[in-house]
Amino acid sequence: MKIQILSDEVVAQIAAGEVVERPASVVKEMVENALDAGSRHIHIAIEGDGRRRIEIADDGCGIRTDEVDVAFARHATSKLFSADDLYNIRTLGFRGEALASIASVSIIEMSTRSELDTSGTHVRIEAGKIVRRRQIGAPRGTVISVENLFFNMPARLKFLKSETTEKRLIATVITRYAMAYPAVRFTFEQDGRESFRTHGSGSLLDVIGAALGLDYLKNMLEVEDTLDNIRITGYTSVPSFNRTDRSRITLFVNGRWIQDTSLTFAVTQAYHTLLMTGRYPIAVLMIDVPPHDVDVNVHPTKAEVRFRQSDAVFSAVQRAVRRAVIAGVQLPTIRPGLGQSGERGGAVWSPEAASQLHLSLDVASPGQYARHQTGITERDQQEQPTDPTAIPDGPEAPAVPRSLPMLRVVGQIAASYIVAEGPAGMYLIDQHAAHERVLYEQFMADYARTGVVAQYALAAQTVQVSPEDARLLEGHLPLLKELGFEIEPFGPGVFVIRSVPATLANQDPVEAVAAIVQDLEQGLPPGQRAAEERIIIRVCKQAAVKAGQILSYEQMQGLIRQLERCRSPLTCPHGRPTLIQMTADQLAREFGRIH
Ligand code: ADP
Ligand code: MG
Repeated sequence: MKIQILSDEVVAQIAAGEVVERPASVVKEMVENALDAGSRHIHIAIEGDGRRRIEIADDGCGIRTDEVDVAFARHATSKLFSADDLYNIRTLGFRGEALASIASVSIIEMSTRSELDTSGTHVRIEAGKIVRRRQIGAPRGTVISVENLFFNMPARLKFLKSETTEKRLIATVITRYAMAYPAVRFTFEQDGRESFRTHGSGSLLDVIGAALGLDYLKNMLEVEDTLDNIRITGYTSVPSFNRTDRSRITLFVNGRWIQDTSLTFAVTQAYHTLLMTGRYPIAVLMIDVPPHDVDVNVHPTKAEVRFRQSDAVFSAVQRAVRRAVIAGVQLPTIRPGLGQSGERGGAVWSPEAASQLHLSLDVASPGQYARHQTGITERDQQEQPTDPTAIPDGPEAPAVPRSLPMLRVVGQIAASYIVAEGPAGMYLIDQHAAHERVLYEQFMADYARTGVVAQYALAAQTVQVSPEDARLLEGHLPLLKELGFEIEPFGPGVFVIRSVPATLANQDPVEAVAAIVQDLEQGLPPGQRAAEERIIIRVCKQAAVKAGQILSYEQMQGLIRQLERCRSPLTCPHGRPTLIQMTADQLAREFGRIH
């Protein structure tokens, strides 16, 4: 095969492919340019799925007449001068590629006027070449219209998805930037009809309402926290308002939308024990870090960044979200009529009903306990000594505040649920889940305070496991020891159990160890504390009263008293609800007393 040098046109098209993948990429690049130009209002209009025409009008700084040509040249930018600047980037663009790339694969008409010029410039560019140019009268700002996208790249057109999908991707780009810049007014028009608008009021919550839907407004908790130079603001959902995928976890770093699996994980981690497995929260978070601590030049679309201290950013995000969630957790209620379809056997969380109830609770500033929350991660724990909000140890520690109203036990149903009465009506408590929660918080509190676990010594018992499990168990022996299990290898696949955590004093130790091994077999999520968490949760599950166990009135009352003082009384450590509530009003409605 003969080696030949590619023509400029082909080179341009190859390069364009990196930046301009689809109509939504054009919208993204041009919205970024409008934002970099300091615009207060950005209007986006598309025809069809944007292939035919995308127009973006802004009221930003405009491009000077003598710079219009160079703006369309490759690697032409007003935002970066030297390689050092790469580490101090405050603009969304800096690669100087977007206009050149878009121009090489479409037909562009642009009108622009900078403040410094009395008249504006209009140009028409076809496949990267200026074919017409004239002076015009124009308001300050820029209007760019991109037509016939990929007209000269039929192969690329074949890779586009359906019209609906491409439109949705465009809408996503616009709503994301609207969220990142609530002070900028966005209007979006599809085929002549306005489909989205924000007011530029500066309120992120307003934009969330416009972008995601009004029901989001009442289900989002405000996030605001700073840890070492890293500031986290935004909103995250109450645990009951969740999804089956992570797609609604939206992250911005210094005003730039980014994709980052680790930080997305930090957000879900913050809901640890509050969300069922397989459920994910909704979050819109602004992460602000000093520009020199983040490298944005990782990928042509700039959707990935690298942090100088990614661990610190992880911790900051996790802590901020955790604090917001703990401060905002509310009570679930029963909504009659949803029984069959409702996912939790009729228990539906209702923040409205809960907030009414909340007024009658004497909860001392719940946010205060965020850090001491159950499921503390190692990162959290490391900071505890300097945490001014930490609960002091020792005798002067204040009584743990109540997180639930006083409940009066009425009785037990199916040897599994406790019926109780409280200020707002009837409560049904899952005795096993509630006890798991109580034990878990006690365990975590003791462990966090003393760093040791009370042990219960046994007349040595042996447990036999498969060779694979033996390896697994052996690998975790030091950790198990820390958690109160003294286990020693005895022979091939045989271990001696010498002690268990005191919590398990009344349980079968062999069964408990076997259950832990089984849990470990399942594989662990990333994170150093995952194994520890899993073991503690298993210990509590093993020790908790089971469903089917008849309880005395005193036992039930005792359990409820303890649950009332838990920091997260509403879910068990696996994230399932511990209690559901039916208000007196709901009862009256069910009986047809009120409508
Ligand atoms: P980059 O944004 O990476 O600098 P672009 O190719 O997107 O590269 O844009 C090239 C230059 O054109 C920008 O640096 C900017 O000076 C100018 N420009 C592009 N769009 C606008 C706009 N809407 N308003 C003002 N200037 C713009
Ligand atoms: Mg740009």
